[in-house]
Amino acid sequence: MEIYAHHGVFPEEKQEGQFFYLDAELYLSLHEAGITDDLTKTVHYGEVCELMKETFTERSYDLIERAAEVVVKKVLLAYTHHTTAVPLIRKMTLNVNKPHAPIPIPFENVSVQIERGWKKAYLGIGSNLGDKRKYIEDAVEKLKKNELIRKVRCSKLLVTKPYGGVEQDDFLNGAIEIETLLQPMELLTFLQQLEQEAHRERKVHWGPRTLDLDILFYEDVISNDPKLLIPHRDMQNRRFVLEPLNELCPCYVNQLLQKTVYEMLKELPD
Ligand code: ADP
Ligand code: MG
Repeated sequence: MEIYAHHGVFPEEKQEGQFFYLDAELYLSLHEAGITDDLTKTVHYGEVCELMKETFTERSYDLIERAAEVVVKKVLLAYTHHTTAVPLIRKMTLNVNKPHAPIPIPFENVSVQIERGWKKAYLGIGSNLGDKRKYIEDAVEKLKKNELIRKVRCSKLLVTKPYGGVEQDDFLNGAIEIETLLQPMELLTFLQQLEQEAHRERKVHWGPRTLDLDILFYEDVISNDPKLLIPHRDMQNRRFVLEPLNELCPCYVNQLLQKTVYEMLKELPD
């Protein structure tokens, strides 16, 4: 698409504007529309183009990075759980080209390309202080309310003896499956915000807590950042993690250990 807009760092760019060229790819199942010849079973590309143009021209951004991010999020959210009749776009790539950028040497084009989509993640949830079930249920409700999270599926909750040698009350533990547009770090920040809202205080390591939310898996991501280790590094030793997780996704593979959840659970000593 060719769209006239006003993105750029320089004031002239914001005032005068210039032509941008957007190139989008949408990923969705075309099978049903292929069988039925029914437009409502697929994405109406005219409508997507309108939405993209509207979003791209609504505001003026300094960066095409930002403009791209805003457009992709808008489209992905427009074709998700809010309107069940509309099919879901699972993933989108967007190229924003700015061939008239103010660069004082001959050049052909400047562009950015981003890819965003719904990613599957598994979370561990636990509480051993106060009204444990309520803390967990409240957190699940808040996950469901976040528009960047969908398809929240919860395991049964189980009661477990505390782990790590600190004298304290029993735990209530479970696992949660989600799909999210949040990147791993953004997801962690959101989970920590939920922990804060449950008045969790970090006093004793492995000590009592109103709410603990961990990222167990995020797609096939392997992260070695100490602030966010994915897959969760201790899951193979924790029955209270593996049992609920096994209920949700027995065949999911821990890419570090090259073992499924079911195998890790089976190999756990009593
Ligand atoms: P634990 O969950 O191991 O009982 P905490 O919840 O107190 O202990 O964890 C504290 C730190 O662990 C957090 O500051 C966070 O940055 C880090 N962390 C590393 N990997 C993860 C992960 N996969 N999920 C959640 N927190 C993690
Ligand atoms: Mg934790």
